[in-house]
Amino acid sequence: MYIDTHAHLYLDRFDQDRDAMVARAQDAGVKRILLPAIDVPSIHQALALCEAHEGMFAMAALHPSYVKEARPADLEQVAAICDHPRIVAIGESGLDYYWDRSFDAKQQDYFRWHIRLAIEKDLPLILHSRDKKGEETVYRDLVAILKDEREASGTPERLRGIFHCFTGPRWLADTAQELGFLLGIGGVLTFKNSGLDVLVEELDLAELVLETDAPYLAPSPHRGKRNESAYTALVAQRLAEIKGMNVQDVAAITSANAARLFNL
Ligand SMILES: [Zn+2]
Repeated sequence: MYIDTHAHLYLDRFDQDRDAMVARAQDAGVKRILLPAIDVPSIHQALALCEAHEGMFAMAALHPSYVKEARPADLEQVAAICDHPRIVAIGESGLDYYWDRSFDAKQQDYFRWHIRLAIEKDLPLILHSRDKKGEETVYRDLVAILKDEREASGTPERLRGIFHCFTGPRWLADTAQELGFLLGIGGVLTFKNSGLDVLVEELDLAELVLETDAPYLAPSPHRGKRNESAYTALVAQRLAEIKGMNVQDVAAITSANAARLFNL
C-alpha cells in the first residue's frame, strides 16, 4: 500500500477524467492521498473530493506564490477550517523565491503565521521551498524562520511535518531531521542527472515519504506530461532500486512514516 502525501487532484487539469484517474491510483495500490491547498477555494475543493472518495484527506494553507494577493480575511478562513475532521495538516506553506521576489517580506510574514497555526492546532506543517537553480537563499531563510518560531513557541515538540518536493542539498536533509521533519520524495528522483539518487542513497528510509505533486513533476517515463497519483508506484520503484530493497518494503516503511505523521 502506498500513500501519496502530496497531490493537487482538485485542479481543473483533472476535470475530464478525475474518477478514472482516482481508480487508476487505487489499482496501483495508492490507498491514501493527501491534498495540499494553495488558496482558500482549493481547501473547499479538496474537502469536496474527500467526501466523494475513500482514503483522501485535505490540508489548509495559502501557498507562498498565492500570498501576493492574499488578505488577512483569507488567513481567518484558513484558521477557521482547520478544525474540520478531514483537515490533517497545514499545507502547503513556505517560501518561493523562484517565480517572484517582489513580496518576500509578505511571504515570510504569512509563513510565520502558518507555523504558529500548525503549532497551535498541533497539526503537521507541509513546507514548500523553491529557489533559482544553484541558489540556497530560500532554504536558509526557511530554516531560520522555522527555528525562530519554534523557539518562540511554548511547545516546540509540536512542530513537525514534511519538506515537500525535497531535492537537496544534504545539509537541508540533516536540518530537517534535527527539526523532526520528514522529506517528501517525488518524480525528480526518477530524472536522469537530478543527483537526488546519490543523496537519497545516504538517507534513512525512516525519514522519507512518497509524493507525486500531481499534476506537476511526473516521473519518467511520463516526464513533461500530466502527473497523477498512480505514479507514486514509479517513485517507489526507483527508491527501491536505489536502496537495493524490494518495493513492498519501501511501500510499507514510507506508508508507516506518513500514517504516523498524519495520524491516518
Ligand atoms: Zn504542491
